[in-house]
Amino acid sequence: MPTNQEIEKQVKFRKYTYIILFGALLVLFLLLRTSNWQGSTQLHTIMEVVATLLAGIVGILTYVRFRSRKDNTLLFIATAFIGTSMLDGYHTIVTSSVFAGLFPSVPSSLIPWSWNASRNFLALLLFLSWWAWRRETRLGDKGRISERSVYITVGLLTLGSFIFFAFFPLPRAYYPEFFFGRPEEFISAGLFLGALIGYLKKGYWKQSHFEHWLVISILIGFMGQTIFMSSSFQLFDMMFDSAHLLKKMSYIAVLIGSIISIAHLFRSEEKHKEELEEEIINRKKTEAALISSEMEYRQLFDSSAVGNWSRDITVLRSKLDGIKSRGIKDLDEYLSKHPKEVHDIVGRMVLGEVNQTALDIFGAKSAEEIRKGFPKIFAKIPFKTIIGFLVTIAEGGRSWRMDIKCDTLDGRHIAIRNYSTIPAQDQVPQMMITNMIDITESKQHEEDLMKLASELKRSNEDLESYSYAVSHDLKTPLRTVRSFVSFLIEDYGEKLDKTGVDYLTRMKAAVTHMDNLIEDVLTLSRVGRKISDLEAIDTKKLFQEILLEIKETGSKAKISIPKELPIIQTQNAWIRPLFHNLINNGIKYNKSKLPTVKIEYQSSVGEHLFSVVDNGIGIEKKYFEKIFSLFERLHSRSDFEGTGAGLAICKKIVDNMGGKIWVESTLGEGSSFFVSLPKGNK
Ligand code: ADP
Repeated sequence: MPTNQEIEKQVKFRKYTYIILFGALLVLFLLLRTSNWQGSTQLHTIMEVVATLLAGIVGILTYVRFRSRKDNTLLFIATAFIGTSMLDGYHTIVTSSVFAGLFPSVPSSLIPWSWNASRNFLALLLFLSWWAWRRETRLGDKGRISERSVYITVGLLTLGSFIFFAFFPLPRAYYPEFFFGRPEEFISAGLFLGALIGYLKKGYWKQSHFEHWLVISILIGFMGQTIFMSSSFQLFDMMFDSAHLLKKMSYIAVLIGSIISIAHLFRSEEKHKEELEEEIINRKKTEAALISSEMEYRQLFDSSAVGNWSRDITVLRSKLDGIKSRGIKDLDEYLSKHPKEVHDIVGRMVLGEVNQTALDIFGAKSAEEIRKGFPKIFAKIPFKTIIGFLVTIAEGGRSWRMDIKCDTLDGRHIAIRNYSTIPAQDQVPQMMITNMIDITESKQHEEDLMKLASELKRSNEDLESYSYAVSHDLKTPLRTVRSFVSFLIEDYGEKLDKTGVDYLTRMKAAVTHMDNLIEDVLTLSRVGRKISDLEAIDTKKLFQEILLEIKETGSKAKISIPKELPIIQTQNAWIRPLFHNLINNGIKYNKSKLPTVKIEYQSSVGEHLFSVVDNGIGIEKKYFEKIFSLFERLHSRSDFEGTGAGLAICKKIVDNMGGKIWVESTLGEGSSFFVSLPKGNK
């Protein structure tokens, strides 16, 4: 394909060619006009023989091209040149010395008029060829001149000329008294001019090689007739012979045009052939790939450990479309009210292929058995599920998952998981492929587990309310014991000896410890209950308040809080004791001169990470998990006061918030307790 620039250049070049040709012919005419050259009958005969042959070749060549491309312009030009060849031949014969005297007219009339017949004929047909093109472009196929009428017209015109010259005496052809010796040449000149203007306006010369050379040919024809032949004053003079020469040149121009366009045709044909061959190769490759992918798919389908079957859903779809086209908007509601129709629609799915695994799943021996057994197999599917499936298809769903319970043909109750797909390449979905796995066992496990979990939950709840009740009830007698121990010390302390007072003091301490233990158990059993509503807690404020509370107990420890702390949605009743406890431990299990506790915070995707870092006594690695269990202590109460419930409570709080708590520590250096809480959670 030539680029626009190349075409522009070509158009310019062709335009100049026409102008230069026109100018050159004009100059030639002026130069030769005064020559007194005198040719002869023999030379004329030779020239006309050549012209006849040339016109014949052009005509036949163009006709051959017309046969391969049914183009009206080509048909007109082909017949024009074939006719011209005949007329030229006729002209040659009647004007040769052999036939001199056999015709009713004298040579000085016969020669110019028979020349003129050929010229007029060609000019007329060239003009008509343009006219036929314009008619066709305006009227379309209706405007097309039939092949037959072209042949008949051309044939009649040629025959008419023959008969005319043979039987009628002709008027004189030379008029020496006028400025132009042969004014009759202007008839064909006019027709050539018409054809020239027509073809230039048609504009095909800009791109078509043939039409470019046709324009050159017509231009030469026009000039030959207008200035050369019309200026001949007697037979065989310079203008006469020049016009004959120009005629041949004009034929040659069309010949060149034909040859060039045939060459181009061959070249593009060659290219086309190459493209075609390439396409064939590509197609073969695609075909091979398709076959191998089909085979792979087959293999996958047949020998898969997953059950596979395909079903034709064409009828099902058209039934659904039918319902929709009735203007029913809420398909779900409509189908729910028409169970009979639903069963009819579902029954219209035609089972395609089934693999061995699918047969095994349903205890069938053949696809036929499955086909017949459908009602039994799927009897348990809830009606709602069926409707959901139909609505999904109607809404253009392409793939979905469904867990269903089925009865097999050999009497088992199974659960299967279905993955159904409607292949994307189906513009109008026709096939549905279903992969299924037997999930009977895992479903059973799942159910067992769920049962277990709910039992566990219930027993946990029982335990919690039990321990709550017990500890609550224990507190009352304990309070009585403590009161009476106090009374004993106060009222009878002086009457007892030192050992007696010591016993009472120890008793009081034990009772206090027991009270603390009960208090902790109560707290633990309360964790997880909703005590306060979720609220936005500014953790910075929270830590500042905890710090104040600790300061009030007289602690000298240094506690640092970071500048940036988040606001989190949580229950104040639980987040407060959580951090209070951790900070307290950091101070309590600490023998440094200046006990220090550092709060740190990091935010990451989906998580708040707090850490409470102390410079205390540290914990051995093997106890990292143990310390979070209830009543697990690493020290005796004489070393560090405590119940061993604090971290267990912390863990339960964090668990309830969906977070995590853990410790990292080096013995003798300090510990870091980490609390990670999910963002946007309780
Ligand atoms: P309590 O402090 O009432 O004994 P906790 O559950 O809070 O109970 O702690 C359990 C045990 O973990 C403690 O007895 C102590 O040995 C150890 N522990 C807790 N926090 C720290 C800490 N910051 N540094 C060293 N040891 C600690």
